[in-house]
Amino acid sequence: MKKKLLSYGIGFLILLVLAACGQTTTSQQEGESDRLKIVTTYSILYDIVKNVSGEEADIYSLVPIGADPHEYDPLPEDVKQTTDADLVFYNGLNLEEGGSWFSRLVETTGKSAEEVFLVSEGVEPIYLESQGLDGEPDPHAWMDVKNGITYTENIRDALVEVNPENEDVYVKNAEDYIQQLEELHNDIQKKMSDIPEEKRFLITSEGAFKYFGAAYQVETGYIWEINSENEGSPQQIRDVIDLIRERDVSALFLETSIDARSMEMVSNETNVPIAGEVYTDSLGNEGTPGDTYMKMMESNANTIFNGLVNDGR
Ligand SMILES: [Zn+2]
Repeated sequence: MKKKLLSYGIGFLILLVLAACGQTTTSQQEGESDRLKIVTTYSILYDIVKNVSGEEADIYSLVPIGADPHEYDPLPEDVKQTTDADLVFYNGLNLEEGGSWFSRLVETTGKSAEEVFLVSEGVEPIYLESQGLDGEPDPHAWMDVKNGITYTENIRDALVEVNPENEDVYVKNAEDYIQQLEELHNDIQKKMSDIPEEKRFLITSEGAFKYFGAAYQVETGYIWEINSENEGSPQQIRDVIDLIRERDVSALFLETSIDARSMEMVSNETNVPIAGEVYTDSLGNEGTPGDTYMKMMESNANTIFNGLVNDGR
């Protein structure tokens, strides 16, 4: 009799535990579905958004790390994530334009204007200069950290608009992050000004450093101006070789998200070494020196400084 009660007792206990577990699971799931769902077009925006949203959101980046946001073919998962998203952030300024991949995705998923946010709103654009592209904005505004601050403010305002209950969190996170970005901007400015002026010439494959050059007083050159172009044509290679010789450039730089072959050809032809890798259109993989926006900018400044000061050695 006693034994039976005991086993009833244990059975009841197990039921209770199971019920409790079941409840926890359900409330967790409900909690998850309450979380804000955010989609960004590429990894750099992913990181800036994460800094502002903190733990309050699930964020998904369409273009994966190491890939090119200028041209992209959305996958079925991208369509699903975008359809479910409360907010979608994109760079604009002519970035996500290859084959109009982003505007087609917005159309396919039926996102409304209230759900899609332009992070570069208010940025002073720099325009492309090569024939056939002149007059179109250069997209790489984030390469000037001051513009990264504008992105942060726009992201904060969008989050507050869509999810006003968490306004305090977004405002505080943005404030902390902007303070760090201001320090970073000053550090990069100082670092670049420590490079002797006659050596301050930055050559990359794509012309992604115009905003950087303007903000930090570095002259820039490139093989091709923007990634949606016919990349590294014989004429473009000849032109950059002439520029390197004319300006006595002592070090070249290769972007982490770009095929090395064109720059290697330029390096072989001019005997000017490739001094290091820089981050432009993508973060680096986790654990690399460029796995956040701030770290990629800091890493770029160090790589450029060391390369130019030491003539690529
Ligand atoms: Zn680019």
